[in-house]
Amino acid sequence: MPLRVVPLGGLGEIGLNSMLFDDGGSALLVDAGLMFPDDTMLGIDFVIPDFGVLRETAPHLSGLLLTHGHEDHIGGVAFFLKEFDVPVYGTALTLGLLKHRLAEYGLNGSARLVEIGRTARFRAGSFDVEAFPVCHSIPDGVGYILRCGEGVFVHTGDFKIHPRPPDGVPTAMARLERLYSEEAVTALFSDSTNVER
Ligand SMILES: [Zn+2]
Repeated sequence: MPLRVVPLGGLGEIGLNSMLFDDGGSALLVDAGLMFPDDTMLGIDFVIPDFGVLRETAPHLSGLLLTHGHEDHIGGVAFFLKEFDVPVYGTALTLGLLKHRLAEYGLNGSARLVEIGRTARFRAGSFDVEAFPVCHSIPDGVGYILRCGEGVFVHTGDFKIHPRPPDGVPTAMARLERLYSEEAVTALFSDSTNVER
């Protein structure tokens, strides 16, 4: 079965970042963010992706990968976990921020949080997952290299290429250059904020 990549939000809009990678045997969700309402959404506190769709289309979901701790990437996790009891992978700061959010919804005890290093490589469902550090306006951010039977896919999360990264860790350009030369990358899913500049 070909890999299906389904954005639940975050394309052509600010916020609501959440993307499904589904190879038929297992599926991973990258980020579960919320969107803050604009002036037309009177009485609405925030907008979350429609995770209910996954119940029908991806019941074999095997994990949630988090790229960093901004609300537009983790703000919907509590609602996601009400639908799916799967492991949530993230770096120390990302999970630390998430725990505060989950506590508000009484989910701190039940969530299966898996802390990973910024260069961790692990198996999630049928995917071989490798994290790589990215520089962003919040520390401890990562992107992910996802390997499955259908190829090699790179999801950058939010990133910038900064000569003096605030947390001292630059975006892993050397790792990505090596990846592109050593393995055939099937597709790149990149942050496009400010791409015009
Ligand atoms: Zn961000």
